Amino acid sequence: MENLSRRKLIRNLCITVAALPVLAQMQMAVAADLPQLDENDPTGKALGYKHDTTKVDAAKYPKHTAEQMCKNCKLVQGEPKDWMPCQLFPGKAVNAKGWCAGYVVKA
Ligand code: SF4
Repeated sequence: MENLSRRKLIRNLCITVAALPVLAQMQMAVAADLPQLDENDPTGKALGYKHDTTKVDAAKYPKHTAEQMCKNCKLVQGEPKDWMPCQLFPGKAVNAKGWCAGYVVKA
């Protein structure tokens, strides 16, 4: 009985380990397929989101600098690429060179 449980445990462990790369690929595919955030999205607009950080309204956001971009924001997720998920905009991808007022510098 104990051998059977151990065998079952080892088999389940092997299945789980074998599935990890597949799950990681699926997660990356989901992130890659996210629709791009529209600059006219109500939340994006409220936070002054722009696909290009150099286009941010300097009068409205005087603390913004051109070096602040989504790609170096603490709230962006996943591997660095042109469009990435952001914690502030679930289900959407933001531009790596974009910016919004929710910017938090990566430590
Ligand atoms: Fe970009 Fe950060 Fe704003 Fe998200 S919170 S849109 S990553 S600047």
